[in-house]
Amino acid sequence: MNDMKDITAAITACKGADFELQPLKIRLPQGDEVLVKVVATGMCHTDLIVRDQYYPVPLPAVLGHEGSGIIEAVGPNVTDLQVGDHVVLTYGYCGKCAQCNTGNPAYCSEFFGRNFSGADLEGNNAICTHDGQSVHDHFFAQSSFATYSLSRENNTVKVSKDVALELLGPLGCGIQTGAGACINALKVTPASSFVTWGAGAVGLSALLAAKLCGASIIIAVDIVESRLELAKQLGATHIINSKTQDPVATIKEITGGGANFALESTGRPEILKMGVDALGILGKIAVVGAPQLGTNAEFDVNDLLLGGKTIIGVVEGSSSPKKFIPELVTLYQQGKFPFDKLVKFYDFKDINQAAIDSHKGITLKPIIKISEGVSESILTD
Ligand SMILES: [Zn+2]
Ligand SMILES: [Zn+2]
Repeated sequence: MNDMKDITAAITACKGADFELQPLKIRLPQGDEVLVKVVATGMCHTDLIVRDQYYPVPLPAVLGHEGSGIIEAVGPNVTDLQVGDHVVLTYGYCGKCAQCNTGNPAYCSEFFGRNFSGADLEGNNAICTHDGQSVHDHFFAQSSFATYSLSRENNTVKVSKDVALELLGPLGCGIQTGAGACINALKVTPASSFVTWGAGAVGLSALLAAKLCGASIIIAVDIVESRLELAKQLGATHIINSKTQDPVATIKEITGGGANFALESTGRPEILKMGVDALGILGKIAVVGAPQLGTNAEFDVNDLLLGGKTIIGVVEGSSSPKKFIPELVTLYQQGKFPFDKLVKFYDFKDINQAAIDSHKGITLKPIIKISEGVSESILTD
């Protein structure tokens, strides 16, 4: 194939390996594909669990799934996007199955194939080495730990040029997951109580959204004091360090019997059990934290039954990204959704430091800056 473009990408060569920057090639867009010059990409927990092979994405691969950038070229079937548009890349979905047709693309029947198979649905790759060896890609239909990313029109979301583009990538996954779980799935109500189990980027995005929904009691549970302090600054009315306090008893005391809404983002089954135990009557908990495939969790069946409690699995905030991501951008511009407080920027060459800081809990949401000087809004600041 002649139509190839030189790129630099961070390769994950084998299980647990450091990201390694390498010169590679990517093919140009066909059909409904879009070639995006990546400005920045958030790093999400899912990148790291795939690097460590808790999820079986084939390696070597280019990961990265919270890309933001500028459209460089479009395929002949692209209708609503143009070269030069500022975009956020989100997860892949078919747009045609029963779930996609009813506004639930996060539950697309082709979700696994389009996001985790390491290739397109036909098993082909768009990225290769300079000597022609294929590299696994299409991670979340983008593989955006790279200077250029190939996405599809339906997972490429146009955003306002008035906002710093390098900040927006995490809206495509982690931030949308937490905020959407509250707004779209739990539908947190005014004057209610809400608990976030885990005060990482997803949990704190949920906290910001619960505040936006009008929850009056907002409780953050974590074991890292600095995260709990940040939770307080962002609007938590109560913080619980579960190393030193019994969270279930404390939540029941604060809420007068149990919480109306909760979100579990740690991916640990014992925390999910506590989350269900700490719900009040008719309480709902959203499960967004992903443990290793095959993990089971326990709960007291009679407590669930007699309490009329609900446990909901939530992928990507149950959002329709083309609608929800621009809404989050507007809320951010209005100062109502300050998710920028969760992020720290890293240069592309420091991508492994970002992973280390994220793992240690020092950085909640790393954003890897991939190309410089392209955000006009930043230049005029
Ligand atoms: Zn679908
Ligand atoms: Zn993610």
